[in-house]
Amino acid sequence: MPLSEFDLIARFFSDCGARRADVTLGVGDDAALLEVPAGRELVAAIDTLVEGVHFPAGSPAASIGHRALAVNLSDLAAMGAEPAWALLALTMPRAEQDWLSEFADGFAKLARAHRVALVGGDTTAGPLSVTVQAMGFVEPGTALRRAGGSAGDVLFVSGTPGEAAAGLEVARSAHPPQAAAEAAQLRSRFEFPEPRIALGRRLRGIASACIDVSDGLLADAGKLAAASGCGTEIDYEAVPVSTALRTLVGEERARSLVLTGGDDYELCFAVPVAKLAILQRELSTAAYPWQRIGVLRREAGTVVKRAGTVMDFSARGYDHFA
Ligand code: ADP
Ligand code: MG
Repeated sequence: MPLSEFDLIARFFSDCGARRADVTLGVGDDAALLEVPAGRELVAAIDTLVEGVHFPAGSPAASIGHRALAVNLSDLAAMGAEPAWALLALTMPRAEQDWLSEFADGFAKLARAHRVALVGGDTTAGPLSVTVQAMGFVEPGTALRRAGGSAGDVLFVSGTPGEAAAGLEVARSAHPPQAAAEAAQLRSRFEFPEPRIALGRRLRGIASACIDVSDGLLADAGKLAAASGCGTEIDYEAVPVSTALRTLVGEERARSLVLTGGDDYELCFAVPVAKLAILQRELSTAAYPWQRIGVLRREAGTVVKRAGTVMDFSARGYDHFA
């Protein structure tokens, strides 16, 4: 028997993710009642994932649930915020129990890992599309922004960008990949990105500007630079290329994916030279890599330099309307 809208909300979404004392009223009423802690600023972000646009048709339901929350937590991470609550607007063609159960598990696992409570949402029938709004807190005045960087600040990126874009190619491909273990690792980087919440929290008071990398490293570094009234110079030799990525697609294609592939959900951040020692100390125990990739400069625009020579990079990241 098909699930009614009421049943499926009660079964899969009424107790999804963390339980929090600051949720006065969660799923079930006309709206949620939430208590922002005294002395905190509310940080809010929203993102939509559409089947066939943001993930391939037939993607694992757990991955869709995970990514819908992860891309929003990544936005909170880029602001240096601590996540707390989420709203979920789910549009799907049919209410299938197995699919819903996996979707809710994927969402809930990540939500619990970051102490996020699902406090409400909307459920409708239509082409598969998932919108999540995430909310969190930051100490007033300490949020990281895209603006704030200055010429001379050093630019860094966390993790191993480019892997998710290669993983998406693996997921889309009809042919079995040659390096199966590496392919599986990259695929999971696309399907289950880890939002860099802890890193964003640590960067408060250290980074002058920060952005999460969703549209490609060059494109997003360029956005950070432009918001800061600067340009950026990226060192082609310095960008981090993972062994798995190199093994799967070769050195040149790997470097190109690192710079222009999307869906990384890493953080790109600028740090004034005077704070580099503090950064080094703060991130000395980080469980993920982080790498200097270039500098902010006075001249507008993005240049990529290889051994001192400017390279031509035409692919500038994903634009829905380009
Ligand atoms: P309304 O008609 O007032 O919009 P709904 O029937 O859409 O109410 O939702 C009933 C309750 O279930 C509300 O509290 C709403 O926030 C919650 N809800 C609906 N869909 C979801 C969902 N996908 N995830 C979480 N909560 C949901
Ligand atoms: Mg509703």
